[in-house]
Amino acid sequence: MGIRTGAEFVESLRDGRTVYAGGERIRDVTAYTPFRGAVETLASLYDLQHERRDELSFSSPSSGAPVAASFLMADSVEQVRWRIAAEQIRADYTYGLMGRMPDFCNALVTDVATGLADLGRREPRFADNMKAYYLECRERDWCLTHTLVDPQVDRSRGPSEQPDPFLVLRTVRETDRGVIVRGAKMLATLAPLSNELWVGPFLPRRPGEEDYTLCFVIPCDTAGLTFICREPYSSGRGDFDRPLSSHYDEQDSLAVFDDVLVPWERMFIYRDIEIFNRILINRPGYTQLQAVIRGLAKLKLLTGLALHIAETIGRADALHVQAQIGELVANVELVAGLVRAGADEVVAARLGRVAHRSISAALWVLVPQCQLRAVQVIRELSGSGLIMTPTQKDFENPEIAGYLQKYLRGKGVSAVDRVQLFKLAWDLIGEQFGARQLQYEWFYAGDPYYTRQRFFQSPAAAEYKEIVTRLLHGRKE
Ligand SMILES: Cc1cc2nc3c(=O)[nH]c(=O)nc-3n(C[C@H](O)[C@H](O)[C@H](O)COP(=O)(O)OP(=O)(O)OC[C@H]3O[C@@H](n4cnc5c(N)ncnc54)[C@H](O)[C@@H]3O)c2cc1C
Repeated sequence: MGIRTGAEFVESLRDGRTVYAGGERIRDVTAYTPFRGAVETLASLYDLQHERRDELSFSSPSSGAPVAASFLMADSVEQVRWRIAAEQIRADYTYGLMGRMPDFCNALVTDVATGLADLGRREPRFADNMKAYYLECRERDWCLTHTLVDPQVDRSRGPSEQPDPFLVLRTVRETDRGVIVRGAKMLATLAPLSNELWVGPFLPRRPGEEDYTLCFVIPCDTAGLTFICREPYSSGRGDFDRPLSSHYDEQDSLAVFDDVLVPWERMFIYRDIEIFNRILINRPGYTQLQAVIRGLAKLKLLTGLALHIAETIGRADALHVQAQIGELVANVELVAGLVRAGADEVVAARLGRVAHRSISAALWVLVPQCQLRAVQVIRELSGSGLIMTPTQKDFENPEIAGYLQKYLRGKGVSAVDRVQLFKLAWDLIGEQFGARQLQYEWFYAGDPYYTRQRFFQSPAAAEYKEIVTRLLHGRKE
């Protein structure tokens, strides 16, 4: 089958899935106004694969059909660079605003499928399942998303110590056909608009938590699976008033599993804590690389926005403003450099040589910090401009339009263009959508303290300590 069209993707979402938003059951997610913009954007990403087929797809080794670039098991630097270029096109196309665009989980299944020997070490059938699933995703061009984290409820207790033993998703019983699971996962971004849901490892499980040690995938319309969405941010306000949330609100949901059957052939890790805790370590890192590429696209958007604002309010000549924006440009350069370095790191990891570090450092530390800094610069630059943004309807009202045209214009820019620019900024960094974007970036790769602490535990920390030890020791001698 190979790459799908946007129309095929949209049709695939009309499957009777159980989704609730704003207090009501959404029977057809493609027809629900707050979801429509995101569905259209995702559909256009599928169409883009056909419009730029040479850059965004490769010939499937099994079927010969064109399949999405993000499924390529690249094992040479040239191949990884080709993947990077494809993912860059798609991340730039969505301005880095859709963290769970299909490329991300395509990269995830590709990463996991490179480690079949690890996965099947004790039970080969799980490696066979993963191999078959990778091929299915690649050939059918599924829109896949993931949910990894347990509901927050009481983080001082493990999954088995919660007030209700079925609060965190767990095994209920086995049947001939598969495993019945019950409980919840939080969050599941994009799940209401995806075909398939990956439930997998993230934070390590401890001995005794075998019932909670699962990795599997199921279709989003599986019986007993319910998605409860957070309040949608797209309210059908249109491009002038909500230029971003009207197109890129990818939705987040709580995934509730009410005695859901997971077929054995869709199970990848079952009760095996050792494999569960290790499976994402030493993968090539296609997933992390895609995430950094997506973050880079957003940093470019934020930087360009800062420059636009400075020019529009006549402050682009000021030294401190140039220094602030220059810092953002430098940050983009840094991240772009790390993406380039990522090609070597991914290949080295693919060949089992070294664990990649700079791409993880970019994803876990640098990119979120750069996003925060860019938002701070835009806020500082904007002043009240960020706030004084009347609606399209105000501009259409002849009683006040003249005042708006006069008092809200910018330097060489009409009032409409100036207000539209600031509305873009407010949607991106202020409004519900913007506030969620920042929260997303900060927690994208998990708890930022946890991810930073992993560097503390790395051999590099001891190596740097040794430098000082050597220096002190040398002095004594
Ligand atoms: C917008 C958004 C979208 C998301 N989408 C997805 C998704 O699609 N799929 C998915 O799987 N996940 C998703 N997540 C969840 C994300 O993976 C988690 O937010 C992240 O892993 C942190 O977990 P948590 O939110 O439960 O926070 P917690 O882990 O509960 O952290 C909350 C606070 O507790 C602190 N803390 C942690 N451990 C300790 C400790 N031992 N002692 C004291 N304090 C501690 C943390 O530092 C933090 O400040 C999303 C999150 C957001 C915000």
